[in-house]
Amino acid sequence: MLLLIPGPVQTRPEVRAAMAVDIAPWDRGFMPEYAGIREKVRDLAGGIAGQHACLPLQGAGHFITEAAIRTFVPAGAKLLLVMNGTYADRMARLAREAGRVVVPLAVPDHRSVTPAEVAEVLAADPAIGHVGIVYSETGSGIVNDVPGVGAAVRTAGRRMIVDAVSAFGALPFDLKAQPEVDAVVFTSNKCIEGLPGIGFAVCPIDRVTACAGNAGSWSFDLADIYATALRAGWGSFRFTPPVQALHAFGKALEFFQAEGGQPARHARYRENARLLHEGVRALGLKPYLDWDHQGPIIVTVHQPADPRFTLMEFVEALKTRGVLISNFYNTPVPTMRIGCIGDIHAEDIRFALRAIAETLDGMGIRQRDAA
Ligand SMILES: *Cc1c(COP(=O)(O)O)cnc(C)c1O
Repeated sequence: MLLLIPGPVQTRPEVRAAMAVDIAPWDRGFMPEYAGIREKVRDLAGGIAGQHACLPLQGAGHFITEAAIRTFVPAGAKLLLVMNGTYADRMARLAREAGRVVVPLAVPDHRSVTPAEVAEVLAADPAIGHVGIVYSETGSGIVNDVPGVGAAVRTAGRRMIVDAVSAFGALPFDLKAQPEVDAVVFTSNKCIEGLPGIGFAVCPIDRVTACAGNAGSWSFDLADIYATALRAGWGSFRFTPPVQALHAFGKALEFFQAEGGQPARHARYRENARLLHEGVRALGLKPYLDWDHQGPIIVTVHQPADPRFTLMEFVEALKTRGVLISNFYNTPVPTMRIGCIGDIHAEDIRFALRAIAETLDGMGIRQRDAA
């Protein structure tokens, strides 16, 4: 089966095979492996040894995002959130439920926010200490201008938290060039092409130590994760980790580096997105985003207007042809989401486009423009 979804992604067989081992996380043989993964991840984020730390947390992407918000935004403090997609909605919910005050900045989900839009809100409200932004909005497929918005945040003397869950490893990110960033967060199962199980935050150490005591949670406290590393070593855990997923992530990092790292991965995904965007148009379907706003992670396509079309039926029929796409959508109007990330190459996209064409024909869908 070809998984064309924006995570958990299609993985290489060698990465999946790395899961099939028993490991004790505190074993002297594994601790250096884990410590080495943390160093590699810090470096990939543009972090500097001694200045930045990789702080992993077991669980889904939402958990590491919540940990970053709890750690850096004090309870009762204001957080400006750029709202242009469903992952921003989720960030707002977890921030509110953690008792942080969300100031939403509504932006349409078919374009990036502009640095000027953020600067204006920050200028109007000096009580906003942080800006939260989703780098690649996996709802629609747009990419927010993180370096540009970061510069506006820096100028305004505020701090930033970046949800780079679906961006990290594919879109460029350089922590040392963005000193306004308190945390960039991502997971093992998206553009690095590992398996799900663990999230990572890379953060400036002076900010982590300054924020000790903010979290109001032991589980979701990045400062406590840092303190544990100092006390017990960078190969140590507070609680049982998904140790097999970590071992496999180490393998995925090897393939990532062998491929040529972030620039190569970006180029492969962008070509996947280009083929998809062009290919669905050739089938008479309408992409949700103009190519100018289309990111390399996910191509969202309007569901056909044809009354015979239902998403669930389409997804199940496509699956019988060897391709799995999401059976839900995250846009205000009915769409289909097709992932470009994972161990997916141009020939896979061509195969998927043929399968999509056959499936639409098989279902008798002739009216293919937007519903
Ligand atoms: C996948 C994703 C997440 C995290 O999702 P989980 O299901 O919690 O792992 C967060 N933000 C973005 C932008 C994502 O694409």
